Amino acid sequence: MSKTKDALIIIAAVLLALAVLLLVVIVVMDRMKGPNPGGDTGRADTTAFTEPLPETSLSQETEPAPESSTSVDVTTAELTTEELTTAEITTAEITTEELTTAGETTAEPSVTQPVVGDWVPVKIEGATDLGVSSKGYLIQQKDGLYYVGGILIANKSYPLPSDYIPEGFPVPMVDQVISKFLPDAQAGYDEMKVAFKAENPTAAGFKIQSGYRSYLTQTRLYNNYAAANGKAAADTFSARPGHSEHQTGLAADINVVGTWTLLESIKNTTEGKWLAANSWRFGFILRYPEGKSDKTGYIYEPWHFRYIGKEAAKAVYESGLCLEEFLGIDSVYPES
Ligand SMILES: [Zn+2]
Repeated sequence: MSKTKDALIIIAAVLLALAVLLLVVIVVMDRMKGPNPGGDTGRADTTAFTEPLPETSLSQETEPAPESSTSVDVTTAELTTEELTTAEITTAEITTEELTTAGETTAEPSVTQPVVGDWVPVKIEGATDLGVSSKGYLIQQKDGLYYVGGILIANKSYPLPSDYIPEGFPVPMVDQVISKFLPDAQAGYDEMKVAFKAENPTAAGFKIQSGYRSYLTQTRLYNNYAAANGKAAADTFSARPGHSEHQTGLAADINVVGTWTLLESIKNTTEGKWLAANSWRFGFILRYPEGKSDKTGYIYEPWHFRYIGKEAAKAVYESGLCLEEFLGIDSVYPES
């Protein structure tokens, strides 16, 4: 080997190194140019690498140089293409994933129901979603029963099926009043009785005067009241059949032991006062409070209590609202 050839090889190597450096600078600068719009960038980059190369390699007469520069160019180009492809695939995957998630969300809107205190509203599984109340609670229907925020509703706007009999209750007869609740409500009531006795040892105590009433019983009751007082008046204190909470097995008229008539004056008794102030501790609410007739659809009934569970009862009690206001629903007959 001649010295000239050695020198040429060194020069070629230096030039090659410079060419590679130039390529790297070009690639880096090109990437810093800003947004790369998708697949077009791949081609643009490749062109950027290819263009300066011939210039560099042409300036070299030596054989190894073009070979080396070509191989370097290919490697760089391959790497870059690979990188770009990977980047494209990743972007594409993410986008598809996002779109799919968005699509699912649009298909089945998830309602975030307001949580109040310890009460977390429930979405009834397998129920039909009918809409959302003015307070943001899900209105659902399952087996003919209406639920708002997971709470079973029986009022003038939301009736019960005429054939609805709570589980465990006997087949209805006409003159039938059953002094018991569904199990959870019954447990709350029993606990409430014990607590009352402990806190008021000398008081007479309270009893269930009228618990579960069947559709048939309510029909007789309402018809009697309507015949005696007129329909309009009867509607203020007696539910039309299918609209009574007594048919749910979750409500009862509670009276003082030894008293047989339900009177507003119960609100002044030890029992009445205590129930109004404490029934929430056991899962009950005073369902038709004073001054809320335009919301509940019924007169003030200091004896009528409804079981909705401890967390919900506490939330409703502390709100100072009646159940309709609390949930954001109406209690109006479709047509009077
Ligand atoms: Zn009642």
